[in-house]
Amino acid sequence: MICPHCNEDGIPALSKFFARTAFPARCALCNKPSSTSSLVRWISGPVFYFVYLGAAIASFFYRSWWPILIAGVAHLLFDACTTKWAPLIATTDDQVNQKRKYFYVFIGSLILLVVLSGVFGA
Ligand SMILES: [Zn+2]
Repeated sequence: MICPHCNEDGIPALSKFFARTAFPARCALCNKPSSTSSLVRWISGPVFYFVYLGAAIASFFYRSWWPILIAGVAHLLFDACTTKWAPLIATTDDQVNQKRKYFYVFIGSLILLVVLSGVFGA
């Protein structure tokens, strides 16, 4: 995959597939971070969350695993297509650190919520 910093083929396809804004792909040649666009990440994240939710409801009504299976395959196809065709966007280490901070705050508050509901819910 072409690196947006140095325009060389320095990024393995698998790194791009797993690249997130907080955990970007790194170029093997210039070691600079890049990720797919936030629109792509938004569809792959929150949008597919609702697709899974809908599929889970459909699975319940049809008493079949097919809707969830189809949603999973569609998600995999979407990620595979964006890995192949969506361009990588150059990011900086500052941006990565900022996104990572948000990510850890989010995970931290999620864990806190689970712990608190465990303490007070019992
Ligand atoms: Zn590069």
